[in-house]
Amino acid sequence: MYMNCNCGQIMKVELRSLIYLRKVRISHVPVYACQDCSAYELVPSIKPDLVCYIHSLGEVDSRMNVSFADTYEPAAVLREVLSLSLDSVQEIQKQCNIAFDDRINMLLDLYRVAKIKGDSVWIAEIQTRLRKLTAFMKIQKEYLEYCMN
Ligand SMILES: [Zn+2]
Repeated sequence: MYMNCNCGQIMKVELRSLIYLRKVRISHVPVYACQDCSAYELVPSIKPDLVCYIHSLGEVDSRMNVSFADTYEPAAVLREVLSLSLDSVQEIQKQCNIAFDDRINMLLDLYRVAKIKGDSVWIAEIQTRLRKLTAFMKIQKEYLEYCMN
């Protein structure tokens, strides 16, 4: 799943802006970008959420700027990590692990509260957030293992 770029270089995770229908600028979209040529591809686990998000925008009549990080939590966590301007894949991965673990632990605390209150809507919402965060992290880890080999 994680190949080197066709040019032979490593692809690192980044947040990019995508333009949709020439009108909507969606910032903070996680992609794997080559460090050498201009190739990039979406992080696979985000595709369903990105499609869902684009549908949720509905009819686009005028230009707009939106941030995927506002709706997709892993992108928000990643934005925090990448704002640290780390250079090495290993250092980015380490900080990702810490940031995602922190967020997941915070959600698990909330989950316990929601459980005690018996709030099924809240419980479901937290479960969805946890699922997205762990799916995203899994991909990150697979990628790192690939880089280390
Ligand atoms: Zn390349």
